[in-house]
Amino acid sequence: MSEPKVGFISLGCPKALVDSERILTQLRTEGYQITPTYEDADLVVVNTCGFIDAAKAESLEAIGEALRENGRVIVTGCMGGQEAQIRAIHPQVLDVSGPHQYEAVVNAVHTYAPPPKKEANPFVDLVPPQGIKLTPKHYAYLKISEGCNHRCRFCIIPSLRGDLVSRPIGEVMDEAQRLVDAGVQELLVISQDTSAYGVDTKYRTGFWQGQPIKTRMLELAQALGDLGAWVRLHYVYPYPHVDQVIPLMAEGKILPYLDIPFQHAHPDVLQAMKRPAASEKTLERIHTWRQMCPDLTLRSTFIVGYPGETEAQFEYLLDFLQEAQLDRVGCFAYSPVEGAAANALPDQIPEEIKQERLERFMQTQAQISAEKLAAKIGRELEVLIDDVGDDGAVGRTAADAPEIDGLIYLLDDTQVQPGQRVKVKVTEADEYDLWGQRV
Ligand code: SF4
Repeated sequence: MSEPKVGFISLGCPKALVDSERILTQLRTEGYQITPTYEDADLVVVNTCGFIDAAKAESLEAIGEALRENGRVIVTGCMGGQEAQIRAIHPQVLDVSGPHQYEAVVNAVHTYAPPPKKEANPFVDLVPPQGIKLTPKHYAYLKISEGCNHRCRFCIIPSLRGDLVSRPIGEVMDEAQRLVDAGVQELLVISQDTSAYGVDTKYRTGFWQGQPIKTRMLELAQALGDLGAWVRLHYVYPYPHVDQVIPLMAEGKILPYLDIPFQHAHPDVLQAMKRPAASEKTLERIHTWRQMCPDLTLRSTFIVGYPGETEAQFEYLLDFLQEAQLDRVGCFAYSPVEGAAANALPDQIPEEIKQERLERFMQTQAQISAEKLAAKIGRELEVLIDDVGDDGAVGRTAADAPEIDGLIYLLDDTQVQPGQRVKVKVTEADEYDLWGQRV
């Protein structure tokens, strides 16, 4: 009997990708074949994203395409929380489950494409213990918690995913160790609020390899730092206790990189957004961090044109950018998300003003980024190679997270391997990327 084949479409953010990996790992372990084509598949699983309206539309379109091309479709992920909306447009989907309901998805697959009998499946033990990765083999996302205790007015994550639930630290460390054992060179720690890790468990003491270890960001960063891979922290908020991880960065235990979604700088806008750590003295904090770790890369995202944002508040944000000298910055013009509290706020900003602010913001930051990258010319940096082609190799420095930050190009260098870490001297820079040569 041939193995049942499952097609898999993964949409959305890195967090959804981790969900996809878990589901795929499970299915593969049970003997399913994962197929890249609709025609081959006995059914198709679509892992959806429901974060913003554009993502929802993309999800509905992907479901529609899978239905047209294959006909047997199971829906899961963020948008699965809105089953009625999905069924109103695509009544023929076989099953709908919400985010991280791995068991429900896998059960639905069992129902509509029964798993092969054990004895007909001699390949079970060939599944690598770290699971099937959808990302390049040498970096992996490590999801440390689900949900969020904050209630930012523009966000519907808490209503989609509920309050913060931290994974036990022993389980997270086991997963990290398996990934590193399987050759992963870079662990990207993700969650909705990494600085809040363990709050829900009152920082319970767990165990890993027979040793007590607290469920807390500092202890997690220390333990991950001992594994030997690059460790990158995403979605951290500027709380005072974040200061404690900076020495680990200065010592080189974890990457000197913090991804902090500030979203704005003006205290009144932050308060209107109901942002966590809104009252922290961010500039002072950044200054202290840089004193402790001069090589620290700060990445952030911002929203311009939030309801009620005045021209003066926006200019305050531009001044903040000049002062903070952040390394990597993303910016979005505010757009309402169905179900978000911010939709009901007065003083929505006209579209043309939002766009105009977005442009001014990006121009300001482009200049800062270009200067920051130019300052790297002549330095020797460690680079993790992502890809090698006929024209050379491309990789990233500690300052660059995959998919969202910049790259470093090693022209004509074809003698390196993806996943290899090499020393590179930077020879050129523009506002996003670097060029260099191996030393
Ligand atoms: S911190 Fe705010 S924006 Fe981030 S997930 Fe929680 S509620 Fe949403």
